[in-house]
Formats: sequence, C-alpha cells, structure tokens
Amino acid sequence: HETIAGYDNELAQAMADEARRQEDHVELIASENYASPRVMEAQGSVLTNKYAEGYPGKRYYGGCEYVDVAEKLAIDRLKQLFGATYANVQPHSGSQANQAVYLALLNPGDTILGMSLAHGGHLTHGAKVNVSGKLFNAVQYGVNEQGLVDYDEVERLALEHKPKMIVAGFSAYSQVMDWARFRAIADKIGAYLFVDMAHVAGLIAAGVYPNPLPHAHVVTSTTHKTLRGPRGGIIVAKDAGEEIEKKLQSIVFPGIQGGPLMHVIAAKAVAFKEALEPAFKTYQAQVVKNAKAMAKTFIERGYKIVSGGTENHLMLVDLIGRDVTGKDAEEALGKAHITVNKNAVPNDPRKPFVTSGLRVGTPAVTTRGYLEADVVELTQWICDVLDAPNDDAVIAKVRDKVTAQCHKFPVYG
Ligand code: PLP
Repeated sequence: HETIAGYDNELAQAMADEARRQEDHVELIASENYASPRVMEAQGSVLTNKYAEGYPGKRYYGGCEYVDVAEKLAIDRLKQLFGATYANVQPHSGSQANQAVYLALLNPGDTILGMSLAHGGHLTHGAKVNVSGKLFNAVQYGVNEQGLVDYDEVERLALEHKPKMIVAGFSAYSQVMDWARFRAIADKIGAYLFVDMAHVAGLIAAGVYPNPLPHAHVVTSTTHKTLRGPRGGIIVAKDAGEEIEKKLQSIVFPGIQGGPLMHVIAAKAVAFKEALEPAFKTYQAQVVKNAKAMAKTFIERGYKIVSGGTENHLMLVDLIGRDVTGKDAEEALGKAHITVNKNAVPNDPRKPFVTSGLRVGTPAVTTRGYLEADVVELTQWICDVLDAPNDDAVIAKVRDKVTAQCHKFPVYG
C-alpha cells in the first residue's frame, strides 16, 4: 500500500480525526495557526530524505546542490523579512534556537535575566525545570500590578545581579515590549540583549509590532505561530559582528544539532515568501484588530483582561476571584468546540495545572477569515460558557453555533 489508510488504519483514523477537529473546532490557542497547503507540500516532500550537515556551499555530504538552493532561498527571504544581516534557518524548534543562543554566548553558571514563566515568559527564559534554568543562574523579572513589564524592576535586577544576558520576549503578554529600553538596560551593564520574538514574529514581519532587530544582539523565533510556517526555529541578527555570527553558526551545527531538516527548511522558505506578500500585512493587521475586538467584548461582559487590553494577537483572561478555574474553563469551552489553553495569570493563587486564567489569541481564526464581527459573536459565546461552565444546555447551544460558524470558514476547504 502506498497510503497510510489501508496500511495503518489506526494511525490513519487518528490523522483523519485530527483533520476534522481542526475544521470543526474553533482554535484560539495563541501559539497555533494553519500552515498553507504549499508549506505542507514542502514538508511532505522528498527533501526529507537528504542529509546536509553543514551550511550551503560547505556541506559534509555530497548531492547537496539542490537543497543548498532551498536553504539559500530561506536565508535570503528571512533576512529581507526582518531586516537581518545574519540568519540561520536550521534550528529544529524555538527551544533549540534559544538553547543555541545561550550556549553560543554564555558559559554554564553565567547569570541570565529573563521574564518568569508565571508572568508571561517562556520556559526557555530561565525556568527552573528547563535547561536554561539548570545550566545558568537564572534571575527572573515579571509584571507590575497593572500587568505591564516593570522596566524599573528589570533595571534594578540587572544592576544587582549583573547578568551576562538579558532575555526579552514572551509567550503570554499582550502589550508592546520596549526593546530599546531593554537594550539601554543591557548596555548599562555590558550584557547581551537576546530577544525571543516567537509569538509576535508574524506581526513584526508585517510591520504591525515593533521590530527588535535594531536593538538586540540576537533574536530567535519559532516559525509556526503568527509567522504561519512549518514547526521550527530560526536565529536572526542585525550587525551582530563576525564573532557573534561565527559562534551562532558553529553552535547550531555541529554544536547542538546534526543534519538539518531540509524539508522543513524548504517549508520555511515557502512561508517566508508568503510573509513577504502584501496580503500578509493585511492578515496581520486583521489579527490585531480581531484581538482588540475580542478584548473589548470580554471587558464589556465583565471579564478582566490582564494589562487591560491587547496590542498584539493575544490576551489573558483573568479569572482570579471567580468560581471557575482556568482548568474548568478550558474543559467547558472544549466541550463547546472552542480550543483554548488555561494559563497562569500574574500572582495566580492557583497551581500551574489549575490556574486562574485563559490565554486566547486570534492568529488561527483570522487565517480562517474571521473579521471583527465574527470574533465578537464568538467571544459572546465564550462568555456565555464562562458564565455557566456547568450548564450542559448552554454548552450544547454554543457548540451548535460554533460548528455553524466553523463551516462558514473552512480551513483547507
Ligand atoms: N519561545 C517562545 C516565546 C515560545 O512561546 C515558544 C513556544 O511555546 C518557544 C520559544 C518554544 O518553541 P518550540 O515549541 O518550537 O520549542
């Protein structure tokens, strides 16, 4: 058999079920999106067969002339997208891109200063359970009472602990980060500024969120969130200098990775071409408009949004003081075919597996074609469920409406 179906029906069924789930559930997980059929065409291509250790023109394997073309296209487009002078498209994931940056520029035991997971940072920014928190002396900053990054606190911690690197970037923060302020703080103590733009890379590429490249020594991203490419990571920099660039190149390969995933790199090249199109700017502007419409509706319905609103693609709904926990809310919404993730909010009294918050984002629904009015309608239904998370009749009603809305906006048709 040439196809999975008929050869491995158990797996084929799971894949078909997942395809159907993606069509008839509404996706509000802020880190997810739908890659284009072209991106998936590259990922499912024969390029998966090729070993290409090294970099274009300098490989440790023969037969790399065509994958070299693919990788060069990815690199050139990526540089153009972010105004970078350096780009590495080989990291297998966002976490590996971050690991590469740490290992290239730091030594084990060095101090880093990053945003805590509990306040919106990522695991790889120094969380205790992550290698970034085990290998390095990680000091963490957070947000203030208003839910905003407390730059005075960042500066105080920087002066006190003298980190060799400051990490800026986030997984759950709905405001604009002041990259220039971070760089000014880093410069005061001679630290590197490393920005992880994973969540907002698509917005940045489209010019609807500030670009960190003019400010940071080095920047990483995933390629599968707002950027809407294949799952993967990248490292970029602007005028970082030869020494930093050399260290980054050699830490990715042979430092922490072997053969690059050439099919994924080809898919990145496709995604970067798509992101250079005028339509991508329109899309990202709509992502932000939709997020703002969603935040406004939550607030009108009496739900608190951390930091009071959003300037990007996501927001945190604050459930502190309510009977419904983040976990309950995620489950109730799941029954209504609305996919979200529970998320700790700043100063969350509940445990990380329960939480008092939801993280919601608009990249995926906007790819489906939702405009503000559709998002407002959807947010009203979400609030209906949050108001009555144990009411099966309400959940069933919302599920019917969500299903009808999903059918109006097919993902892959
Ligand atoms: N950095 C940030 C800010 C993220 O939000 C994520 C994903 O959750 C990552 C890095 C890690 O990316 P990956 O899941 O590809 O390792």
